[in-house]
Amino acid sequence: MSEAERIQQLERELMQALESLQQAERRITQLEERSHHAEAVDEETHKLAFEDTLTGLPNLNIVRQFVEMNLKQVFRYHRAAALLVVDLDRFRVINDALGFGAGDELLRQVAERLKTAIRDSDILGRKGEDEFVILLTQIDEELSQEPELKDRQRQQLGDRARHVAERVAEVLAPPFELQGQKVHLFASVGVSLCPGDAETPVQLFEHADVALSYAKEQGRGRSLVFSPELQELRMQKLLLENQLRLAHTEKQFVLHYQPIVELSSRNVVGVEALLRWQHPQIGMLGPRDFLHVLEETGLIIPLGDWVLKESTRQLRAWGDQGFDLFLTVNLSPRQLLQADLIPMLLDVLGQNQIEPRHLVVEIAESAATTMDPERMSQVLTDLGEAGVRVAIDDFGTGLTSMKTLRLEHTRLLKLDRTFVAGIPGERASMSVCMATIRLATSLNMKSLAEGVETERQCNYLTKNECDLGQGFFFSPPIAAEEIPDLICQGRPGAEIIGIRG
Ligand code: C2E
Ligand code: MG
Ligand code: MG
Repeated sequence: MSEAERIQQLERELMQALESLQQAERRITQLEERSHHAEAVDEETHKLAFEDTLTGLPNLNIVRQFVEMNLKQVFRYHRAAALLVVDLDRFRVINDALGFGAGDELLRQVAERLKTAIRDSDILGRKGEDEFVILLTQIDEELSQEPELKDRQRQQLGDRARHVAERVAEVLAPPFELQGQKVHLFASVGVSLCPGDAETPVQLFEHADVALSYAKEQGRGRSLVFSPELQELRMQKLLLENQLRLAHTEKQFVLHYQPIVELSSRNVVGVEALLRWQHPQIGMLGPRDFLHVLEETGLIIPLGDWVLKESTRQLRAWGDQGFDLFLTVNLSPRQLLQADLIPMLLDVLGQNQIEPRHLVVEIAESAATTMDPERMSQVLTDLGEAGVRVAIDDFGTGLTSMKTLRLEHTRLLKLDRTFVAGIPGERASMSVCMATIRLATSLNMKSLAEGVETERQCNYLTKNECDLGQGFFFSPPIAAEEIPDLICQGRPGAEIIGIRG
């Protein structure tokens, strides 16, 4: 090989070596990139598993682990812990009104404020949706083994938890700034203590939730510490729920009817169907004992359908006997949200050959306030268009805006009995009664006074041109069979709310 050829050969080898080197470098960079990516992925998975991405707080998963660790310490070192579940009241309303973006922003701001309500050693996490959890740790020195002292220390623990609940209310009190608007927010808090009411992490969470649900029932911005009485109440409620399910299948429900009287003539012109439960052990129960459970569990839907079917069947039977009456039936908020409410109503009426205008649907004024105003207006319009009459029940108690009530579709204002109870005599009650009667007249509606118990009330209402009355003075709610006799004592007549045309 000549010298020139040797040099060329060396050059080629050098080029190859360089190329391999470059290849190796590229491979290394690739590997490095991959490993960085893997680290990032790792971090991301870690975050997803332990952190709530919206607020950056520990998520429920990690809070659970903290609670578990903490309870072990509680038992090992005779310490104590408390769990607070914080639930924002009306969050969904704000979320719906201002949009999800604003809702998220609100949750972030709430998280920041909650941090200022606790000690560094406490743990704040997000439980989900609009719920946060606070675990109070290292609450006290070692708990004493002497029963008396132990009780006192537990008391202190409860006090400290209550104090934090108060702090939560305090830090959330100033309005939040969202999209240039000021938003006010309240939170309900449920508290559970260990030792004391809970012995396991699961119990601690469960008991805090029970306390929270009762706090919410008492209205917004309340806090409640779990107690065995609450648990007892919950058990009773569960029992009641089971009994109610059985009651429906075993046909233990009955309807009583309360006559509605035309005040000027004292004739019975209509009846209100009122639900009763013939309890096999306790006897006859009224709706106040069980209606809230029917409503919460949704049992009101099948039962409400039965009420409509049974009462319209009864109205047909009275009609066939020559009694010309209108029927009023109470509908609860859940029933009003039923998608097929109107077709169902019309179907039931059709089956009994009853014209829609003989049926008055009673909607409590308070229901109008809890429901979405647009939905409420739509239901009232649909009922009106179907030809069914609408009554606003317990009028004067709900603070509803007149706009929501779609008064053009309402036939009847039922003045709540708390106002009737105050007449004649109490100025405020008399003013509300008079104003309601006038409002009804000016809007071409009829006024009905509920809970008329005395002759004096009856005379006062008649003199002041209230159209209709209902109450113990005329008759309590009675069984269907008793209605004909009662009517025969007076003259039937049904012109009153225009049911004859
Ligand atoms: P409401 O619709 O306002 O019915 C009037 C309530 O006042 C009835 O109570 C009736 O017994 C009572 N009452 C009537 N006259 C007098 C009186 O002169 N003095 C006094 N102190 N009370 C009088 P009840 O039957 O216990 O019903 C309570 C509520 O339960 C009803 O209030 C209604 O909102 C609801 N409810 C009753 N039946 C049904 C139903 O089938 N479905 C639904 N969703 N709710 C119902
Ligand atoms: Mg009613
Ligand atoms: Mg009422």
